[in-house]
Amino acid sequence: MMPTRLGCLIIAVLTMFMVACSSTSSGKDDAGVDGLTDGDVELDGNGNDGGDMFDGADLIDGADLIDGADLIDGADLIDGADLIDGADLIDGGDDAEACSVELEAPVNRIWPVAGELFYLQLGLGGLSTGESALVVGPDGTIMVIDVGASSHDDDVRDMLSEIVTQMNAGGGYANAPFSETALDHIVLTHFHGDHVSGLEDLRDRIDINGKIVHRGLVDITDAANAGTIQKTCEAVAALPGREAALCTGDEVAPCDPDLWVGSYPSSGCPGLDEGDLGQDGDSGPAYLHLGGGARVDFIGSDATMNGDRYEELVGPLHTEDSNGENARSIVGILSHGDFRLLFAGDLTGGPSDTDPVEPFFAERIGLVSDIDELGVDVLHANHHGRNTSSTPPWIDRLLPNDGLNRNTVMGISTASANSPHAEALAVLLDNNRLRDGRGWTTLVGIIGASHDLLINAQGGHIIISTINGGAAYQIQAIGPTGTILAAGAYHSVRVCR
Ligand SMILES: [Zn+2]
Repeated sequence: MMPTRLGCLIIAVLTMFMVACSSTSSGKDDAGVDGLTDGDVELDGNGNDGGDMFDGADLIDGADLIDGADLIDGADLIDGADLIDGADLIDGGDDAEACSVELEAPVNRIWPVAGELFYLQLGLGGLSTGESALVVGPDGTIMVIDVGASSHDDDVRDMLSEIVTQMNAGGGYANAPFSETALDHIVLTHFHGDHVSGLEDLRDRIDINGKIVHRGLVDITDAANAGTIQKTCEAVAALPGREAALCTGDEVAPCDPDLWVGSYPSSGCPGLDEGDLGQDGDSGPAYLHLGGGARVDFIGSDATMNGDRYEELVGPLHTEDSNGENARSIVGILSHGDFRLLFAGDLTGGPSDTDPVEPFFAERIGLVSDIDELGVDVLHANHHGRNTSSTPPWIDRLLPNDGLNRNTVMGISTASANSPHAEALAVLLDNNRLRDGRGWTTLVGIIGASHDLLINAQGGHIIISTINGGAAYQIQAIGPTGTILAAGAYHSVRVCR
């Protein structure tokens, strides 16, 4: 039986495809996991506990993953060569019924190509938790969202180099060649080591040609990691004119933590109203161009959205618990044509004694963006898929259960042993919410929860790239050795409405 809009889906699974099937659910609240030491777990060489994590039986039990047999010629599903070739992957016939634009067959490309938006959720190993995503705009503009921990700067740099090499070789960009040691913008979602500590080493070896977007050197509490604030402050001091601080106060924190006096309270977030952040003196909702009509909009920061400050209207955020800093994460929307992807760092939603900023923002998103009742196509799951976040008000707002296909992506590093959490996966994936879409994670931690609809890149990467200028998009799980483990293609919901 074909589910509604099955035509929008391709899920292709190679014979090597494996899904981590740990059913161990960790409901444990580990608020300290974001620290550089908390939550670190010693693992074997490649960070995988092969025996327990990967149970072949469940892999091929991929029947529910594949039930696209009606969609695709069955032979092509298992034949890796055809997958990579991709020509047969999408059957436009069914799409035409559900959606106004017929998909052309994707090439199952891994690397960025001119004219499309590219997003890579980077798999990060080692003993420190970390998260980073690399974004390439349609004209080759490169933006990095978070840079991992200090041990991850090589991973970010190496992936940047690989991406640029591929772009120069076959991306078709009019303004190629690009430097392999340069990027345009960096977004630091909040001041925790797993998102920011790689900055210091990275900037020694990478030219940053655009903006460094951060929440502002204000509301400095024990919930943040002092070193990340110092590194951010020093980076922007060394690159005059490159800082895009979204929030500010009467006084901002100096770089040296020894000089800090008080918390440097925010007086608001005027940076959210500075229009094009790449242009001085602009006004309107904040954004950066990513080329070719694609952009990233910044709609929330420091628990402030639409001029409404959570701490004024609801109450103070936690100051000692690390989740009090997570609650201040920047909210951004990547858009290209009809395609929308929303990210919000480690934003919290209320469970596990966290600050309920997700519901606060969910009520206001429509006031500061074009995110209407259709929500988004792809949602980055907050806080590495943990149970502090992905609360029903947030998920219902952004991934409404309306019969359309959507997807969620999460960045889980090897050291995030107990991520994701079953509670977050249930909200994201149960009740057929995503229809033919899936959850896509860089890794299921060794005691993290799993789900039938969660695709695990096993420490590799999740790649999302638009098709036809954002009318559609494909998602791929790339294993650590570069093998495509799973791939899906979907119309953007604003096309399918
Ligand atoms: Zn984090």
